[in-house]
Amino acid sequence: MSPLSPVLAALLAAHAPGAAPVPDPAADVVDAIAYPDDAAARAAWTPMAGSPPVSVVARDGVRALRMACPFAGTRIERASWDLAVRLDLATARGVSFRLRCPDASPISGFSLYFRSGDGWYAATFAPASRDGWDMIAIDKEDTTIEGTPAGWGRIDAIRLSAWRGAERDTELFLADVRVTGRDARIAVVRGDSVPRAAPDETESVRIYTQSVTRCLQEAGLAYLVLSDLDVTTAALAGRRIAILPHNPSMPEGAQAALAAFVKGGGRLITFYAIPGTVAAAAGIEAGTHVRETRPGFFASMRFADPRPAGMPAEVPQRSWNIRVARPAPGRGRVAATWHDADGAPTGHAAVLQTDAGFHVTHVLIPEDGAAKRRMLLAMAGHLDASLWGEAARATAGRIGRIGPYADFDAARKAVAEAARGDAATRAALDAAAKRRADAAGLAAASKFPESLAASEDAQRLLLEAYCRAQRPAPGERRAIWCHTPEGAGGLGWDEAVRRLAANGFTDLIPNMLWADAAAYPSDVLPVLPEVRSKGDFLAACLAACRKHGVRCHVWKVNWNCWGKAPKEYVEGLRREGRLQVRFDGSTNGLWLCPSNPANRTVQVDSMVEIARRYAVDGLHFDYIRYPDRDGCFCAGCRERFEAALGTKVARWPQDLRSDPALEARWNDFRREQITAVVAAVSAEARKTRPGIQISAAVFPNWPVDRDAVGQDWKAWCDRGYLDFVCPMNYTPHDATFESLVAQQAAWAGKVPLMPGIGLSCWSPPDDVVRLIDKIAIARRLKTAGFTVFDYSPAATQGVLALCGLGITKRE
Ligand SMILES: [Zn+2]
Repeated sequence: MSPLSPVLAALLAAHAPGAAPVPDPAADVVDAIAYPDDAAARAAWTPMAGSPPVSVVARDGVRALRMACPFAGTRIERASWDLAVRLDLATARGVSFRLRCPDASPISGFSLYFRSGDGWYAATFAPASRDGWDMIAIDKEDTTIEGTPAGWGRIDAIRLSAWRGAERDTELFLADVRVTGRDARIAVVRGDSVPRAAPDETESVRIYTQSVTRCLQEAGLAYLVLSDLDVTTAALAGRRIAILPHNPSMPEGAQAALAAFVKGGGRLITFYAIPGTVAAAAGIEAGTHVRETRPGFFASMRFADPRPAGMPAEVPQRSWNIRVARPAPGRGRVAATWHDADGAPTGHAAVLQTDAGFHVTHVLIPEDGAAKRRMLLAMAGHLDASLWGEAARATAGRIGRIGPYADFDAARKAVAEAARGDAATRAALDAAAKRRADAAGLAAASKFPESLAASEDAQRLLLEAYCRAQRPAPGERRAIWCHTPEGAGGLGWDEAVRRLAANGFTDLIPNMLWADAAAYPSDVLPVLPEVRSKGDFLAACLAACRKHGVRCHVWKVNWNCWGKAPKEYVEGLRREGRLQVRFDGSTNGLWLCPSNPANRTVQVDSMVEIARRYAVDGLHFDYIRYPDRDGCFCAGCRERFEAALGTKVARWPQDLRSDPALEARWNDFRREQITAVVAAVSAEARKTRPGIQISAAVFPNWPVDRDAVGQDWKAWCDRGYLDFVCPMNYTPHDATFESLVAQQAAWAGKVPLMPGIGLSCWSPPDDVVRLIDKIAIARRLKTAGFTVFDYSPAATQGVLALCGLGITKRE
């Protein structure tokens, strides 16, 4: 088959009559701020108690709402306003608006909420700049759920909140609120009905839907996320492709609508287990589940010829199981098969190509983003060739948009100046310019897959030059958390720590113990079963740190159980009344009661045991707090609080919330329970191992969090319990990060501040430019260094090496 024929077929299909949706622009404006006066605007936007009314202003020729945030001398947690709406966002991608906030420093974060039924969809955002208007886009799939919303089709209010960060007034301006993405040709079907039948699948649905939408975003393809509760023939009208990322079950009506969609010329890209009607429409016959017979059994998908245009030959993915599938007779072929880690074929189909589209026999795991993105793009482009042009144009348009630079020329000029004649940087810049020119030529010849590949090369080379042009700061401490006790990214500790050292990192914070388990032989905590088979993880980590000259601070998850302990252990805690009790009297099985003397002894002894047995450089607290305001109201807490108070609480626990004076004492009591452990560990560990460094991962907004979660870390710094402190500033937004760090420097006082940077929390998790921006901010604010969260596969696979070229280059 000539590679052009499916392209032509798809082009013809795309121009079939009735294929294009008819957007209704009027319906897409939520609020154009066309109010004649303040009174009209105030009738629409209702302030929350304590927030002032809005007013209508013109800023730089933009008609906007002014929203004042009076944080000086007030007690409001946020400034917040509600707009009553009647919005159907079921068939939209989300909303966008313009925002201007000349001084975001008194604001700890921004939220946008959509109210639906008895719940909310909530998103966070932040302005990127302080000098002008920012366009903010909120996509539905990036929201979290509070309460029980009635679906995206029934949004009856939008709420904008700016959260208090400091005791200073500020203001923000809002303009041009609109709905986005109604005309997208790709619909990603999210299995919102799945968690109702299988609550355990909630997180999987979120993760695998997001791994697909992330690929589409990065490829520059327009899409919308459609809840499977909203899939109808009307909602699919005008779409070209429906993608099912993880939809093991689906309402009957949605299945029928998808079958009709295929019949009418629509195409499917489906993953893993799909319901029967959809499988029939997709032209596949599903078989059983097959688990890996050994680790690395399913290691990559290898595509057979003829490959669709732009399809990589191999897509790495470590799947732990698959759902066997084959093409229905006469409907298609096996396009890719699973190979194991040694490159041997397993005999299992990985990707089917049928007359209805593509089917993958597992979900899309969010790793190896570039290969996944190319695979998805090649599938989409094969089904609708015009998408290749869309992606190629978007990718070319993004070349040079890194860091502060708006385009390629600006980036090239600035990087060349910063390089000061460095030959390797110049070479990378020249190569980037060459590939960019190639991309333009290929696009002009309609060779879109090749053009896109050239654009990606250009961006990668420019990024390398940008990283090379960065400079390290002498004497800076560069720490990184590592979640996995076995070592980062499956590398093993020796190689993982060698890479850290080679790229200029000085301190490692490996997670080795929790409230309920230890990753090394312990007399205090239950020991992970893997320790018996694989050995002492802490000893292995420490040996690697010694060998490569990296300091090792052992990270303890304090009050939180991670479910790593044997069931009997947690059952024992429950029986002995050592778990937290909520306001409503229910037990919180994940959190230990901090006032319980036995719990406190285990907390302290488990950390001091490490100081005694291992020559570690430090001990690091985490989860050294309450989960929220909802704890702990157990009988023991009551007894101990009343003893501290010297009197009885008449109505327990209601009075703790209804009587402000009592509430203040209660908040003090909560703080004291947490602080007591920090004080005891600090004193005993320093006695046991002089010179040991005590540090903590803490919430970013101390004045709020000392009440909200009982974490009084400014006091820990003031009293000298800590040797450094790591507030978890995991925001991707520079302005928010900067305002947080500036305030934290004052709270930390003389204690070195090592602000936490949320690399793994961003999308994508390999965004080294965002990381470099944060490091630059930390330097500007003269912190002792920084702490990266965390040593993830993305970090092991490239981010660290890019840092090592410049910003953290080993001196
Ligand atoms: Zn308690």
